[in-house]
Amino acid sequence: MSEPQAIAIEVERLTYRYPGGALALQDVSFSISSGEIVALVGPSGAGKSTLLMHLNGLLPEQIPENGQSAITVCGLPLTRGHCKEIRRRVGFLFQDPDDQLFCPTVREDVAFGPLNLGLSRDEVLQRIEESLRSVGLSGYEQRSTLQLSVGERKRVCLAGVLACQPDLLALDEPFGNLDPRARRSLLEILRTYSGAQILATHNLDLVVQHCNRVIVLDEGRICADGSVETILADRSLMEKHGLEVPISLANSPTTGQKAPQAVDSSPRMDS
Ligand code: ADP
Repeated sequence: MSEPQAIAIEVERLTYRYPGGALALQDVSFSISSGEIVALVGPSGAGKSTLLMHLNGLLPEQIPENGQSAITVCGLPLTRGHCKEIRRRVGFLFQDPDDQLFCPTVREDVAFGPLNLGLSRDEVLQRIEESLRSVGLSGYEQRSTLQLSVGERKRVCLAGVLACQPDLLALDEPFGNLDPRARRSLLEILRTYSGAQILATHNLDLVVQHCNRVIVLDEGRICADGSVETILADRSLMEKHGLEVPISLANSPTTGQKAPQAVDSSPRMDS
């Protein structure tokens, strides 16, 4: 018998309202095992970014001082005491590189995380070299982050994330604004990463290529959770949540059938 996979993320009954604003997440529960690659899909405003930000402790007013938390990462409840460690373990890639890059050079930007971890100078230099190599940007150390293409800037962001050696990745629209070559290049890099990944995206064809599970979020609620083929080939489910069956699954025998069969234990499937 194969060993059960460790749980990378567990979210239990997470509800969140922005201060003075929208109810962005309602009673969201799911868990992700260490090797899973999970796509978070849904219409704009569904709560995808808000959910990803929670996983990295980026909405601090929600984080309890100690004790129980709606979010557990690698066995650690997301409390103020564990926040720094959880931010190290969850590598977060912002949708817009401008939100992530803030140093004048590539080297300084990639070094920022490892320096914050208190690593020695030699270790930091090694992490910079390894992570830039892994994203195909060796030799870019002295380049200005302002003078790179969007695809290169995304890869610098990812290098900075990987330099902290996270246990899992939370990626907000990683393929947004990239041309086909830059998308393929990013996809290749993500394929070499062995930890869990959860990524919000509108690019459902890339979900088919890269992910093994899909969670559909709409109006802050999980509406479906299952295998890529089961969920994304279900035309009525897709249309109901403002999505389209990806071209690569358009001729699937399940397309057009009404209710997908969840492959996992999610209790919230649309019918
Ligand atoms: P998605 O990533 O699926 O497009 P978001 O997580 O960005 O959705 O947004 C979910 C809901 O929260 C939307 O109604 C959005 O308007 C609202 N929202 C997002 N960010 C903020 C914010 N900083 N302040 C108030 N409301 C916000």
